[in-house]
Amino acid sequence: MIKIRGLNKTYNPGEPNALHVLKGIDMDIAPGEFLSIMGASGSGKSTLLNVIGILDDYDSGEYLLDGTPIKNLSETASAELRNRKVGFVFQSFNLISYKNAMENVALPLYYNGVARKRRNEMAMEYLEKLGLGAHAHHLPSELSGGQKQRVAIARALISRPAVILADEPTGALDSATSKEVVEIMREVNRTEGITMIIVTHETAVSKATDRIIYLRDGVIESDRRNPNPVIEF
Ligand code: ADP
Ligand code: MG
Repeated sequence: MIKIRGLNKTYNPGEPNALHVLKGIDMDIAPGEFLSIMGASGSGKSTLLNVIGILDDYDSGEYLLDGTPIKNLSETASAELRNRKVGFVFQSFNLISYKNAMENVALPLYYNGVARKRRNEMAMEYLEKLGLGAHAHHLPSELSGGQKQRVAIARALISRPAVILADEPTGALDSATSKEVVEIMREVNRTEGITMIIVTHETAVSKATDRIIYLRDGVIESDRRNPNPVIEF
């Protein structure tokens, strides 16, 4: 599903402020995995996630997503692959404030050329799956943090991506709501079989996942199975 070999990335290469952030990353992720990437602030977690999500390029090494080599793609080619293969969930939800929950969830289908009636039907289906059917016509400002993150998860799911990448998805939530969001992510992983990669610096989040990778200064420090995932906040 994801194969990364000897991957390096430097910000501002050749400049006095050059910063080597990813230093020879090797990583294999199988379809359907539920894993977390931990590490201190500045260790390169978001950079790695952005490379995996084809939001950002890298300098050397190898990266294959679902068998497709990801290197030197044009803007259009990377956007097309990203829309088809990747769903994103962010700490700050990134919902469009003037669109209601249903329209936010339907948005990726608009970019994939699905007609309005069909995309709204599908958005309703995913909102209902996530227990938000009654909130479909609410604006983000009328939703709680946990509800906003569930809308974002529904939006990530709707294009049936191969992988969902979540960057600090509980970073803006209190612990009861974090628990609710992690439970939903795990259920989505279990029921839909979608690979889920969660970047976090919260131990409670990583303990819920089946595998924990620690990043330290751009290097993988450890990569372990978690034999007894627990959801405890
Ligand atoms: P994390 O998500 O683990 O906190 P990041 O991947 O965001 O780490 O950042 C790793 C390092 O790269 C940090 O020192 C950060 O300041 C730096 N960095 C991140 N993005 C950029 C950028 N666009 N340009 C230059 N430096 C960056
Ligand atoms: Mg980060």
